[in-house]
Amino acid sequence: MFTLHLQVELTHLCIAVIMDDYNDISRCPLVLPFPDGIERYAYIMWAGWIADQQEMDRICCESSQKCKQCVAPKNRLHEAHTVFASRDAQDVKSAVLDAAFKGIVPGRAPGPPLFTLGTDQKSKRPRWLPTPACTPARYEEAKTALGGVHLVENALWRARHFNYLAQVCSLFVSGLLWTIVGLHQ
Ligand SMILES: [Zn+2]
Repeated sequence: MFTLHLQVELTHLCIAVIMDDYNDISRCPLVLPFPDGIERYAYIMWAGWIADQQEMDRICCESSQKCKQCVAPKNRLHEAHTVFASRDAQDVKSAVLDAAFKGIVPGRAPGPPLFTLGTDQKSKRPRWLPTPACTPARYEEAKTALGGVHLVENALWRARHFNYLAQVCSLFVSGLLWTIVGLHQ
């Protein structure tokens, strides 16, 4: 059960390991040797993430055909000249945490929590463990209510200096898709 959820979770459990190191080295400036031979203070920063649609959906923990930057609905992604409101990564995170750990889902009566914080037996790392209330039907109901966002701890939430919704960009092989959808991805 939850096959796709587990795939997304596994991806982010792996990214989380990388993020531990990244956050350590991006905490303060480092002295780095540059090609011109001069050493300079430099910040290590995650500038962005470029991937294709499926990978980007996995990285952002959400359904396909969902703009990462703005709230354009799926049936209006072709409106290249319409300006939609920006998405807020903190709002998405809060909604996911409320649904997972408080059972609070937009448009639904409050229910029991769907996840509890635990420890993965093999890696000994923190992991969200489903509660008995987390049936496939309830999981899908909550995910749909959140606009297709998985109830997963997105490892990029804690990437220093990085807004995972503002600094991602999807690549499309098709020039037509690049023109039409690229503006919304
Ligand atoms: Zn957009």
